[in-house]
Amino acid sequence: MTHDFKEVNESYTLPEAIREAQRCLKCKVPSCKKGCPISNDIPDWIAELAKGNFGNAMSIIHNRSNLPAVCGRVCAHERQCEGNCVLGKKGQHINIGKLERFVADFDSDAGLTHEAIPEKSRGRIAVIGSGPAGLTAAGDLARRGFAVEIFEMEPEPGGVLMFGIPEYRLPKEVVRREIKKIENLGVVFHLNTTIGENYTVDDLFAQGFDAIFMGTGTGVPKKLSIPGIEHPGVRQAIRFLRRVSLYENGFLNRNEVIVGKGDKIFVIGCGNTAIDAARTAVRMGSSEVTVVYHRTINDMSALRAEYDDAVAEGVKFLWKSSVVEIDGKPDSPKLDHIVIDTDGERTTVDADHVIMAVGSAPASRIVSTTEGIDVDGKGYVLTRETPYGMTSRKGVFAGGDVINRPATVVHAMLDAKLVAEGIAQYVDAVKLLETINQ
Ligand code: SF4
Repeated sequence: MTHDFKEVNESYTLPEAIREAQRCLKCKVPSCKKGCPISNDIPDWIAELAKGNFGNAMSIIHNRSNLPAVCGRVCAHERQCEGNCVLGKKGQHINIGKLERFVADFDSDAGLTHEAIPEKSRGRIAVIGSGPAGLTAAGDLARRGFAVEIFEMEPEPGGVLMFGIPEYRLPKEVVRREIKKIENLGVVFHLNTTIGENYTVDDLFAQGFDAIFMGTGTGVPKKLSIPGIEHPGVRQAIRFLRRVSLYENGFLNRNEVIVGKGDKIFVIGCGNTAIDAARTAVRMGSSEVTVVYHRTINDMSALRAEYDDAVAEGVKFLWKSSVVEIDGKPDSPKLDHIVIDTDGERTTVDADHVIMAVGSAPASRIVSTTEGIDVDGKGYVLTRETPYGMTSRKGVFAGGDVINRPATVVHAMLDAKLVAEGIAQYVDAVKLLETINQ
């Protein structure tokens, strides 16, 4: 079993990247672009890359994306751009994700593009949360001439990119480089600052912000009702991944991460978070990791490539199976055993820990401390079409997973881009009215 967190997918060398880019047919109606949720101008930047114009390629990507080194690594390319590439029908699609990653990494390493910092004259925006949605909204608004400040509860910015997606899929240095580029646009970060605890939304308005963007994601994991689920040997995947990340970055000690060497781990669920938790448990030294899923392989929401990698790393999968009982001594941090039901047949197996990855929902910290932000029955923030993304509270906008239900990084980015446009229109209109009424 693998025991290190080094990035698993290798990057192109420069000649390899150019050769791959030269295979592109530059389709007049590019189906790859249609498959991209943020309509990245894929053939245009691939054409620049094919000619060796790396800076131009980067500038074209930046027109649509604030996080290309991230998207190049973690997007579901097989279901989006690459899955739609015409070359895939006859043979091998263009490896668009790997090329995007190459362009972004090459640009950072060589320091090729330096965006001009726009004058901040259109207004002040507070962004809550610095995951994909918050960073995208902040980058887009800063480029349009707004003074943007991000409020982040963790000791480092990045949200799920820093504390949810493991190092071997998305190295933290890559996230830090992307964040640095956004900081270079003049965006200010306030870390270890929780809105709803340190400040309220009303405090932010009192500080002079013209609009507020909530990109707070879905930080509260869902629970199953299984006898024994409250035992300390049972943990939530997003909390486990966060703690491993904090440990890897020196914020926690090894003994503060539950999974120890030789532990036997069972992961409930089969989305990408479940696979991330399973592969991370392998890297933390577990002797055996098993994913337990109540449906079949064809129903799992995890990417096939992630599943294949997990299998190659020794993770086992139990389909049409559920954990129906969890047992452990009350004073022990570890479990004794669990009972698994597979198609009606029950088996008792030894287990040290169960990790649950069955979805998550938004925290209520902000809406419970702010008047007038309506949510649906499950706690997702309700927003409107005009101005796009505004909540029922004037000037407070929301976007990404906190309104959409947990989706992919690029879908959160797409939503944040549209909301940034809505915020710009709203602030401009309010300031125009103020001028007229003076
Ligand atoms: Fe190039 Fe494939 Fe896009 Fe056509 S669909 S432009 S071949 S990447």
